Amino acid sequence: PVRVRFCPSPTGNPHVGLVRTALFNWAFARHHQGTLVFRIEDTDAARDSEESYGQLLDAMRWLGFDWDEGPEIGGPHAPYRQSQRMDLYKDVAEKLLAAGHAYRCYCSQEELDTRREAARAAGKPSGYDGHCRDLSAARVEEYQAQGRTPIVRFRMPDETITFTDLVRGELTFTPENVPDYGIVRANGAPLYTLVNPVDDALMEITHVLRGEDLLSSTPRQIALYKALIELGIAKEIPSFGHLPYVMGEGNKKLSKRDPESSLNLYRERGFLPEGLLNYLSLLGWSLSADQDVFTMDEMVAAFDIAGVNPNPARFDLKKCEAINADHIRLLDVKEFTERCRPWLRAPFAPWAPEDFDEAKWQRIAPHAQTRLKVLSEITDNVDFLFLAEPAVDEASWTKAMKEGSDALLATAREKLEAADWTSPEALKEAVLAAGEAHGLKLGKAQAPVRVAVTGRTVGLPLFESLEILGKDEALTRIDAALA
Ligand code: GLU
Repeated sequence: PVRVRFCPSPTGNPHVGLVRTALFNWAFARHHQGTLVFRIEDTDAARDSEESYGQLLDAMRWLGFDWDEGPEIGGPHAPYRQSQRMDLYKDVAEKLLAAGHAYRCYCSQEELDTRREAARAAGKPSGYDGHCRDLSAARVEEYQAQGRTPIVRFRMPDETITFTDLVRGELTFTPENVPDYGIVRANGAPLYTLVNPVDDALMEITHVLRGEDLLSSTPRQIALYKALIELGIAKEIPSFGHLPYVMGEGNKKLSKRDPESSLNLYRERGFLPEGLLNYLSLLGWSLSADQDVFTMDEMVAAFDIAGVNPNPARFDLKKCEAINADHIRLLDVKEFTERCRPWLRAPFAPWAPEDFDEAKWQRIAPHAQTRLKVLSEITDNVDFLFLAEPAVDEASWTKAMKEGSDALLATAREKLEAADWTSPEALKEAVLAAGEAHGLKLGKAQAPVRVAVTGRTVGLPLFESLEILGKDEALTRIDAALA
């Protein structure tokens, strides 16, 4: 049975790279009817926080992910927070030491730096040089007498490591490129290098799918796994698959610090989780050459890790918005009217709750649904219905109110007053006729009317907007513009 894991560290706001990794693991688990383990890697007390932990869980729920073992639901390998598993790691570290797979390293940072520089200068590999691999008892005593506190270092076997990456195919690492590495700090705190593969082993993970930035830890983890198998702690080495880098502006790796990588930004702007996930799935994968827009069910049904493209993927906010817009259209109208709610209230919407007219909202919503890229755009598109006066956008006003606009507006007012306000078509005829009287096509003639009534030059279909706003209010606004 397939067992995969999503194991973020709660440091800072969740970002899109993390979400992509979660998505691919989730889709893989669901496709294979496997188990998704959600594990919190919070062993770095200096960087982890409860606040980020809360945000992570909240983000996972908002995105619609479910997991089979992990926070809030528990499971056979509980606890799922590494900060609560410290004794386990200490125990494994002791066993590795006892079996000779690890050793205590007394080198100081200064000594390490000096030797690394020298190796570099001599054109030799600059990783750990094995200085403390086989210290004599006398040496150890001497170091201890000097008051040195050792770290624990894993002893890499002197052999080439080859594995078949699920995304990249066969990869080979030679020993000089994978030096011995630290697994426990001098203060006794176990490191990612130990706790991550140990938990993967204990939690019986079968497939490790993660970002390409972690590729260099894989040969180390495979070696550690072999030691764990020998000690009876692990059963089998999992398969590894490394998801491609995500590139941002200027073809640089998208970093956590780039504003467009923050998940919160997408939530605040009103991306639908399904739209965002659809887009993120395209960062390395595709359903088919001619279908960019699909549901998560479709993704799950078709997901195949071997189909992931190893080449870097480019993050394109415009495309992300376009895909989101398509998902907005796919919603049923009722669902759309509900999902817009947060942007129809404080702090996004300026009008007071008592000015919010539910009937008007229900009528305008279908017109908005076909035009939004993100839900937050709803506020500015419908505010004219709820505000006592339109929110005038100065640039729009100057653009639309040119010479002759007053004359046109006056004619339009006349024709509109006489028109049948139950029919947008009739309102259009009225503005058309006003335009004709002044030698203007419909596009030019409707601009001043739109600005007078909605405050802006662009927006939802004008004649439907007028009808929903109502005759009295619309004429009052035109009068105000003429005054
Ligand atoms: N906690 C690690 C991270 O967030 C997990 C890496 C892994 O998937 O092995 O980078």
